[in-house]
Amino acid sequence: MGKDIYIGVDLGGTKIMASPLRLGRNLKILGKAKNPTRSKSGYKTVVKDIILTIKQSIENAKINSRHIKAVGIGAPGAVDVKRNIILKAPNLGWENIKINKLIEKELNIPVYLDNDVNLGVLGEQQYGAARNSKDVVGVFWGTGIGGGLVLNGKIYHGYIFTAGEIGHMVISSDGKLCNCGNRGCLESYAGKWAISRDWFEYHNKTDKKPGKYALLKSKMIKKTFADNDPFMTELINNACNMIGITLASVVNLLNPQTIVLGGGMIESMNEELTPLIISAMNQHIFKSAKVEIKTAELGDFSVLTGAGVYARQRTN
Ligand SMILES: [Zn+2]
Repeated sequence: MGKDIYIGVDLGGTKIMASPLRLGRNLKILGKAKNPTRSKSGYKTVVKDIILTIKQSIENAKINSRHIKAVGIGAPGAVDVKRNIILKAPNLGWENIKINKLIEKELNIPVYLDNDVNLGVLGEQQYGAARNSKDVVGVFWGTGIGGGLVLNGKIYHGYIFTAGEIGHMVISSDGKLCNCGNRGCLESYAGKWAISRDWFEYHNKTDKKPGKYALLKSKMIKKTFADNDPFMTELINNACNMIGITLASVVNLLNPQTIVLGGGMIESMNEELTPLIISAMNQHIFKSAKVEIKTAELGDFSVLTGAGVYARQRTN
């Protein structure tokens, strides 16, 4: 057992990262490899590149591949974890793609897939900010707002694997149009794309099509907010308020021990944003409820760490 190694892979829209991991009391990342995701060349090219990245990471770690028990892969989209099928990955242009068999054939070890956000939360739950909690909700605030649930130490997928979509919880019944096609989702107010939309609309520089706005840079948002720009202050306060209200519903529904906040917005403005979110949340949670809010710790390694943990859970 002590020598068992699991490989975690983060298949992103722009890059593939892989690391062999030793998953003891502490996490040991034994090696690293990274390659671009050439999604335009078709899924078979991407599969070849995943295999290449895994092999490079094994070489980089200088380990005996006999000790590798399984591979876990985090994919950017909905995954049928029972049949190992990527149902829909808009960033890659994939629908109903099965990649594990091709990789298993080449490497001769089992390969398991799951959604990248779910795995990021699992990574944080096992080795990151929430390592002392069994019940964890993860919220990743970036361009959109991703979420994942780890309940009793396991990812909660739901009936057809769509659980955890915190960004699409409804906060206004006939609210703004969301990228998902519905109205009034949290993301359509607080996602960075929505903040950018409002900013450009306010400054009259937009074609007003949802999802077609230029994205503001995190640095620009941070600076404008720090300079007390009145409109940016309003946008940020409103976004934090909406996230806090949504988290209050999450706490009232699930009573998790820990909520982990991560993603580009939090990485850039944790000190400014987290207190605003907590204060909005506290106004709406049950008076008897209690929850810890933590900042994600694993950064770029959260997904591949969770992928390794997931591969181990599926193997044992
Ligand atoms: Zn939505």
